[in-house]
Amino acid sequence: MNILSIIANKRDKKVLSKEEIEFFVNGYTNGTITDYQAAALVMAIYINGMTYKETTDLTLAMANSGDMIDLSDITDKIIVDKHSTGGVGDKITIILMPIIAALGIPVAKMSGRGLGFTGGTADKLDSIPGYKTDISLEEFKDNVRDIGISLITTSLNLAPADKKIYALRDAIACTANIPLIASSIMSKKIASGAQKIVIDLTCGDGAFMKNIKEAKTLADTMIRIGRLAKREVRCVITNMDEPVGYAIGNSLEVVEAIKALKGDMPEDVKEIVYALGTQMILMAGKATSQVQAETMIAEVINSGQALIKFEELVERQGGDITYISNPDKFEKAKHIVPIVATERGALKTIKTEMIGNISVYLGAGRMRKEDEIDPAAGIVMNQKIGNVVEVGDVLAYIHTNDESKIDGAARNLKEAFILDPKRVAKSKPVLGIIK
Ligand code: URA
Repeated sequence: MNILSIIANKRDKKVLSKEEIEFFVNGYTNGTITDYQAAALVMAIYINGMTYKETTDLTLAMANSGDMIDLSDITDKIIVDKHSTGGVGDKITIILMPIIAALGIPVAKMSGRGLGFTGGTADKLDSIPGYKTDISLEEFKDNVRDIGISLITTSLNLAPADKKIYALRDAIACTANIPLIASSIMSKKIASGAQKIVIDLTCGDGAFMKNIKEAKTLADTMIRIGRLAKREVRCVITNMDEPVGYAIGNSLEVVEAIKALKGDMPEDVKEIVYALGTQMILMAGKATSQVQAETMIAEVINSGQALIKFEELVERQGGDITYISNPDKFEKAKHIVPIVATERGALKTIKTEMIGNISVYLGAGRMRKEDEIDPAAGIVMNQKIGNVVEVGDVLAYIHTNDESKIDGAARNLKEAFILDPKRVAKSKPVLGIIK
């Protein structure tokens, strides 16, 4: 077997065998297959797709490419993991996971970095001064055992094939693809020992799945892979036709998440947190009804326990918790520039992918793999779909430390808002649940 014939097979729309898929995953992980060969194969997969069987074989080969964590030695409780398929302004993990941990459900979660126009939770957590996302496996397990929560990045030797393929996809415009997303997410979840998994499956302009049909196919793919790997998977389809909440950018989102944990949650954030949290609590067997689960979530937010759990996490992972009690300490960008409406109307469309891309351009994400993130950069939205905007009203604020980027970003950002003279309904944050 050799990589050239595997690339040629996928190029010619053939179905790859389990052995061919394993040959590729192992060879790319250990460096015998080059980046350009892997890029050719990934592009062929992107264009010609994969069957369910191929996607499952790819997932399992990626999961087996490194260590597999067994968390049963640190807790006998059911661990329910959560993962988002990516979006713009998606700070849900930072709010939801302390809530879940405060309810006594262990949280052992690995999060990714930004991918394409979408942000990454690991980059967001890194904006908390001192917070370490790349701790050792022992520290990760100790934190879960001692305080019931650890949030880290994908630095452990878990699904290392995904780490390489994920970065490669980002560099060759192959992010939005069902077999590649399903195998990326599920391989990490399987390797990290999660028995039950809730997926925040984002759908809309600011997501990789642009419409409900694609979102349902991705949900179905992940649920099927889960079944084969004996993991229960539920998908909550959430609306990404506008950014989640208001803030987009790393420390900007952390500040919004801290406020949410203090009880000040934008309506859409609240609906998404409650929908995902309810599924997690039900799967963990901590509640028997939606109403009971929702009451539990409200209680740990109102009593401050969820915020205390977040502080414990930040402190345990080396972060400065004075930033949590006083989020004004986060350094602000040098330039904060309002973008104002030049006509009146109801906000009908927000070009969310474009907003994600502008935010990356401003420094909140990476244009190239080696780029440094500017934690203070990004965009703060000032309007939601359905709002009636008058001439002169602020649509959004640009946050940047790079003055040379203001004009270009402002021009593009203005075009991301489409107004309509007629009334427009508010959008629904949660579009469905698939089990
Ligand atoms: N999250 C992942 O971990 N992988 C993807 O491909 C997309 C979102």
